[in-house]
Amino acid sequence: MRLSRYFLPVLKEDPKEAQIVSHRLMLRAGMIKQQSAGIYSWLPLGYKVLNRIQQIVHEEQQRAGHIPLLMPTLQSADLWRESGRYDAYGDEMLRLQDRHKRDMLYGPTNEEMVTDIFRSYVSSYKSLPLTLYHIQWKFRDEMRPRFGVMRGREFLMKDGYNFDLTKEDALHAYNRHLVSYLRTYERMGLQAIPMRADGGPIGGDYTHEFLVLADTGESEVFYDSQITDLKFGDRQIDYDDVAQGQAILEEFTSRYARTDETHDEALFAQVPEERRRTARGIEVGQIFYFGTKYSEAMGATVVTETGERVPVHMGSHGIGVSRLLGAIIEASHDDKGIIWPEGVTPFHVGIVNLKQGDGSTDSACEALYRELKAAGLDPLYDDRDERAGAKFATMDLIGLPWRITVGPRGLAENKVELTSRRTGESEAISPQEAIERLK
Ligand code: ATP
Ligand code: MG
Ligand code: MG
Ligand code: MG
Repeated sequence: MRLSRYFLPVLKEDPKEAQIVSHRLMLRAGMIKQQSAGIYSWLPLGYKVLNRIQQIVHEEQQRAGHIPLLMPTLQSADLWRESGRYDAYGDEMLRLQDRHKRDMLYGPTNEEMVTDIFRSYVSSYKSLPLTLYHIQWKFRDEMRPRFGVMRGREFLMKDGYNFDLTKEDALHAYNRHLVSYLRTYERMGLQAIPMRADGGPIGGDYTHEFLVLADTGESEVFYDSQITDLKFGDRQIDYDDVAQGQAILEEFTSRYARTDETHDEALFAQVPEERRRTARGIEVGQIFYFGTKYSEAMGATVVTETGERVPVHMGSHGIGVSRLLGAIIEASHDDKGIIWPEGVTPFHVGIVNLKQGDGSTDSACEALYRELKAAGLDPLYDDRDERAGAKFATMDLIGLPWRITVGPRGLAENKVELTSRRTGESEAISPQEAIERLK
């Protein structure tokens, strides 16, 4: 993409409404525009990152054997009356009526609808296990929408639902989700710590939230510092391997890590004092096994091998896709702007032309631009007629991991500068070497 032809409305001034750094940087970098409280347009740069995050989520879910589909945003109230949640959900639910005065709602989550899909088509244990998921917009009429996309009212969520014959099978699905989430967050350059969560009115031990540590997080968290040494890394995973899933669950959840909702002072006191940490965190996902709550209420049953009809065991598992942009920026920025992890960056590399209009500098930039694209990379070429300082400031703000700076002085020696956004280190190398390095 050539910056002169792109749509990147960067702001020079800090927007007053933004209280936290990710919100400020997303507005300044021209990624989002608020349309009403907690409802945003995704401008091209923001939309690009959102798509990269979705892509990673899709890849990791499908790697785990989970099946994508797409359910609508608008739902009929009748389904929610069946589960009893239409009245229970409260003011966070946006309710509306169609022209026939039928009660509808903008889905805040999809347990009811996916259970309805399941019961409409599945009747035998032979169809299990099954996990269906989608990435779809949700609406929750939050009391205090704030912090940009972190607490929106309309937000994008991946929500997946497992259907299993037995509790054991459903707990394997739970572990599969835990493992796939650990991989997903690490690919985005994030450390998200599974913490024991509150089962709410359903209760139960089988729910974990994934938290990214950040001072601006809305949850207070308590954990054993050993947990931050755990890395998922490049392990071979067999998602059908029940023992492996259980071992990873134990590895990542055996140390103390809880949010304020489940914090237990007495248990925490058993952690050696020098390892006890209190901090703040951003909830970027949650997994939940809830048994037969919805399947019983809504008649989602299968016939077993012995001919018995039983309700299926279910769980639901969510990733805050749009919130992740904010969380990644909270975890990765400096005073000049965003620092995108390679996995989610909107463009792989920026090209800065120090002397726009100079014949040989222009043609060196054009050649680089062409060859980077031919190598399968997605470069952003700043070909505007601007001062070098302004071009650097824009690149730093939008946070591409690499910058190639091209000027007449370097070119005289066949050199360009390759700069890492994260370390700030620069190297003078030939354009060809720069391309090789980025491939
Ligand atoms: P929170 O505690 O932040 O209100 P939640 O526990 O109500 O979140 P879940 O129902 O667990 O949310 O939804 C799954 C994920 O969706 C959350 O882990 C979070 O990352 C994301 N999410 C929830 N509410 C919002 C929101 N208002 N804006 C953006 N993302 C959200
Ligand atoms: Mg909530
Ligand atoms: Mg929560
Ligand atoms: Mg939650």
